[in-house]
Amino acid sequence: MAGQKVLGEAAAGSRSWFATLLSYSSRCRVKMLLSLGLSIMSVGAGFVPFYAVYRIMALGIKGELTWSVATPWLCLSAGAYVASKLLFGASTLLSHISAYTILEILRRDFISKLMRASLGTVQGKSIGAVKNVFLDRIEGIEVPLAHVIPELTGSLLLVVGLAAWLVAIDWRIAIAALACVPLGLLVFAPSLKEYNARYAAYMAESNHVNSVIVEYIEGIQVVKAFNQATDSYEKYADAVRSFKEYTMDWFKSTWVGMNLMASIMPTTLLGVLPTGLALYLIGELTPDALAMCVILALAIVDPIMRFTAFVNEMKSMEYAVADTREFLDLPELAEPSSRARVVGSSVSFDDVRFAYEAGEEVIHGVSLEVPEGSFTALVGPSGSGKSTLARLIARHWDVCSGSVSIGGVDVRAMPLGQLSELVSFVSQDNYLFDTTIRDNIRLGKPGATDEEVIAAARAASCDEFVLRLPKGYDTPVGEAGGELSGGERQRISIARAILKDAPIVLLDEATAFTDPENEDKIQRSISRLSAGKTLVVIAHRLSTITAADNIAVIDGGRVVAQGKHDELLAQCPLYARMWRAHIGARAWAAGTGSKGGGIDD
Ligand code: ADP
Repeated sequence: MAGQKVLGEAAAGSRSWFATLLSYSSRCRVKMLLSLGLSIMSVGAGFVPFYAVYRIMALGIKGELTWSVATPWLCLSAGAYVASKLLFGASTLLSHISAYTILEILRRDFISKLMRASLGTVQGKSIGAVKNVFLDRIEGIEVPLAHVIPELTGSLLLVVGLAAWLVAIDWRIAIAALACVPLGLLVFAPSLKEYNARYAAYMAESNHVNSVIVEYIEGIQVVKAFNQATDSYEKYADAVRSFKEYTMDWFKSTWVGMNLMASIMPTTLLGVLPTGLALYLIGELTPDALAMCVILALAIVDPIMRFTAFVNEMKSMEYAVADTREFLDLPELAEPSSRARVVGSSVSFDDVRFAYEAGEEVIHGVSLEVPEGSFTALVGPSGSGKSTLARLIARHWDVCSGSVSIGGVDVRAMPLGQLSELVSFVSQDNYLFDTTIRDNIRLGKPGATDEEVIAAARAASCDEFVLRLPKGYDTPVGEAGGELSGGERQRISIARAILKDAPIVLLDEATAFTDPENEDKIQRSISRLSAGKTLVVIAHRLSTITAADNIAVIDGGRVVAQGKHDELLAQCPLYARMWRAHIGARAWAAGTGSKGGGIDD
């Protein structure tokens, strides 16, 4: 889409997940490096006891072993053991501090990415998927960051070090000790063959369960209202069952290989003992070297097993990193860093074309002038593109071609913050956050005084119903939810917009909550909100916009007529039909048929 940049697209495509992980870890570079350094030192210290045992055995075999010669070695190995554990503890402490700091940074990046991406990009993701990445996948990065980088490196170094020691003693015994590793991998190989495809299917199942659970809980009100508990539960239960079956099936197909590998891998002694004995008997291995080989063969088991456990987890780490990266690399709306010089608050559409989905254009070359301080109404059949045009002004999406300008400046040429200062969008379903009514209104102007908040609430006719609540403006919206009608909630949204005091007001007129008393109050609060402002109304009830300075009739994504109410009645058959439908001459409208779908009333 025009005006969007794909951040790091090329890099994201080619970079491996481990490189991405390292790029995340660079945010706590010093701590991570320190953690790595301490882990390596811990491994180094871990070698000392083995060496001490070797020296003591060598002394014993030579018949020179006494307490006085053994004690320094015993002390050294005890000290090295303690040091190794302390160093390891410090390493994991640092890696955990870094990991959780990085998770916090990633979660903040994630939210700011959602703020900078277009609304379309954000709304294109299911809540289940967003929750999954935001909570679980990002959490999944903790394991590689806190454990893999320091511990895997440590285990790897230990395996390499011990193996090198074995080679230094005798290469044949090294081969005998390590033969079990390829053998273990070989028996596990068939299970690995389909691993990628299996894991991808597993993740798809897991995402499906996640979405179904979120959907079920979100829709519980509808489920109850329409007594659909059985059907909806079936869908939920099916998803959970199918996930269980898939996992069990996968587990069954791999458990033989996995158990064989887990049994074969630690059998270093099986190779070392006969080979060592044979070498000893032909005089090519001293008894102390043989003993040392046995110790090394036993010592190498633990890091090998730890290493394979990590290798097993690699895939889930890969997915955790890839999913997180997918969100962190979402395309952003391009915005300049410096504020634009906007003159006035006129709005202008210049040959605007727009498609939500590539190839499915819904706005076809709209040009429309909304002068500063004027009242413009967008009317037309349902689905004709009225809301889309309003959203393009607020830059919820970017146009595909043409431009939308405010005060002579293309909305893409001003920072998103500046655009947000210029435009208030009051829609039918403005979200109220789970905080007090006061704080919900204050969202319009963070830092507003209590007096300003209450003045705006009064102007939006919120006062009477808010004061009826026991805690007044300090009532949590969640708590008051049951007591607030849809109309009252909308008046809170209008109060928010009044407080914001932006020069351009985009209003998606309510179709719901239209009982006469509420309607009258909403209309009065809207006139206070829009006094002296550039007002664009997406009109559903034509009687509310007869006084508009300009009415643009939208049909099939085009402006088919514009003018004042009386002019359009005389000149625009679609408008005249909609008007008649609105005032109740439905029989007449039905007789002539309606153009472009149902009339939006
Ligand atoms: P109106 O406000 O006049 O009822 P809209 O602007 O909401 O019409 O919709 C115009 C067209 O765009 C319709 O065909 C509608 O189905 C489509 N549309 C609206 N929102 C989206 C969306 N988020 N994704 C894809 N298509 C959409």
